[in-house]
Amino acid sequence: MLEMHFICEDCGKIFDEPASGYYRDENIRVSVCPHCHGSEWSELYPCQKCGNWYREWDIDEGYCEYCGSLIAERLKMFVEGEFTNEECHYLDWYISGSSLDNITVQDQTKMRQPKRWNLTSNSCSSKITA
Ligand SMILES: [Zn+2]
Ligand SMILES: [Zn+2]
Repeated sequence: MLEMHFICEDCGKIFDEPASGYYRDENIRVSVCPHCHGSEWSELYPCQKCGNWYREWDIDEGYCEYCGSLIAERLKMFVEGEFTNEECHYLDWYISGSSLDNITVQDQTKMRQPKRWNLTSNSCSSKITA
């Protein structure tokens, strides 16, 4: 079974499964927080990299904001080390409107490979900001 965690928006405690109980003083049996019997909670999602759990809006495509920024930083380092300013302008045109998936598929079918130039000069540090 899939591991699930929830955070109670009333008391802030984390639980794995809502309890069946009475919401506060009312006479209706509902799913409630097992700690405070509140009825508002959010599902938590694990980050694929650090394994911590986050609310839905603190995680993008399976990565928390911090781990995502490290991935973006690696792309930035790669682009800075790999391409000249002029190549970056070309790549801006080449990737416009594409996803990385499309680009790798295109590269395979058309046998295209970006040319390598002097790797140390003309880095394009301003091109990608995380
Ligand atoms: Zn609670
Ligand atoms: Zn993370």
